[in-house]
Amino acid sequence: MSVMADGDRAFLDSIIEVADEVAGPHADSVDRDARFPAEALDALRAERALSATIPAELGGGGISFSAVARGCFELGRRCGSTAMVFAMHHIQVATIARHAAGSQWLESYLASVAADQRLVASVTTELGTGGDMGRSIAALQPGEDGVTASFEKQAPVISYGAQADDLFVTLRRSPDAEQNDQVIAVAQRGQFALEQTGTWDPLGMRGTCSPGFVVRAQIAPEQTLATPFPQIMAESMVPITHILWSHLWLGIATDAFDRARAFVRAAAKGSSDGAPPPVAIRLSHLLAELSLLRAEVASGLAEFVEASEEPSRERLLTMTSTLRFNNLKIAASEQAPRVCQGAMGVCGIMGFKNDSPYSVGRHLRDTMSASLMIANERIHQTNASLLLIAKDV
Ligand SMILES: Cc1cc2nc3c(=O)[nH]c(=O)nc-3n(C[C@H](O)[C@H](O)[C@H](O)COP(=O)(O)OP(=O)(O)OC[C@H]3O[C@@H](n4cnc5c(N)ncnc54)[C@H](O)[C@@H]3O)c2cc1C
Repeated sequence: MSVMADGDRAFLDSIIEVADEVAGPHADSVDRDARFPAEALDALRAERALSATIPAELGGGGISFSAVARGCFELGRRCGSTAMVFAMHHIQVATIARHAAGSQWLESYLASVAADQRLVASVTTELGTGGDMGRSIAALQPGEDGVTASFEKQAPVISYGAQADDLFVTLRRSPDAEQNDQVIAVAQRGQFALEQTGTWDPLGMRGTCSPGFVVRAQIAPEQTLATPFPQIMAESMVPITHILWSHLWLGIATDAFDRARAFVRAAAKGSSDGAPPPVAIRLSHLLAELSLLRAEVASGLAEFVEASEEPSRERLLTMTSTLRFNNLKIAASEQAPRVCQGAMGVCGIMGFKNDSPYSVGRHLRDTMSASLMIANERIHQTNASLLLIAKDV
């Protein structure tokens, strides 16, 4: 078992406190009203948790990636939407931090995220390409003055777009570039305007507040990541996204399991002979399902951390690695709702009702978004091609 550094431990303790005392108590109203989890985000800002993944020399927490992943798990246990906002923000920030070296603009940008606890949203999905991250239609248009560049992107889903300070946007490199010749730009509040194009009344993850927007922005040309896009995707964005998402889905599934266990324990207390009630067997089956999810999530994190510690991070650029982290997403996104549904099966009507201590409806609805967040079928399509040519899997 690894021993946690003091800074990581203190960070995690503060996240657990926010999860238990703020995110959890507001989770039902966030879900019911499809409203942004403002109280939890304020509390996370107060703990300076939005800069956890930024190196200490830039004013960030210098917290390990493992601890941040664990933070997503802890928040997921109490409020899936808060955990998803926290995870998505850190996907952007950690990706920028891993590719900022050599860019004075990106380094001072990260310092400003730390100083002001800025919240960063993701603008990757696009009308016309859907969840295909490897293609963009909107292009970065160089300005005639050479000091500004502009873009307009039709984004059908931007989580917490209205609340975000900054946007992390995938674009075509230039108006002449092919759709797969992409670049990542960072636009700061004041540099972009959002025109909301839809509403947000979904089945689950309601507190992420993710309607569509048209984004129009003017930025400086240096507000882009210089590392080639496919390298950023393989080395950082894909594995980080899949690891942080799978941790929060595990958190939601774990709370559903805990509620099922509390239900069975209460039933056992009420029995006259003290013997486990028949439904305890179902709980045991459910633990087996949860254990599979735990193992998949833990091994994905361990492999990423190990590969990231190698000086060149080359292992992350292999097809084997892409397959591995794609598979983590597919497996976790299918297993988490399975566990939540199993928990509902254990609790019966008490799990089905929204106003019972054993309610797992929100858990089930929130985890049902998992297989759509970059559709699993798209990922299978990528994997299918890679499987034909990859040396090892
Ligand atoms: C809660 C939530 C928050 C989100 N937040 C953001 C955000 O902040 N920023 C952002 O950019 N996006 C966000 N998204 C969007 C998300 O990541 C996906 O990109 C988006 O949901 C995909 O939309 P889609 O299902 O219409 O698109 P598509 O990926 O186009 O899929 C449409 C349908 O086609 C199927 N399909 C696609 N490809 C194949 C294939 N090769 N073979 C067979 N079937 C296929 C899919 O299974 C699906 O049924 C969010 C989504 C959710 C649910």
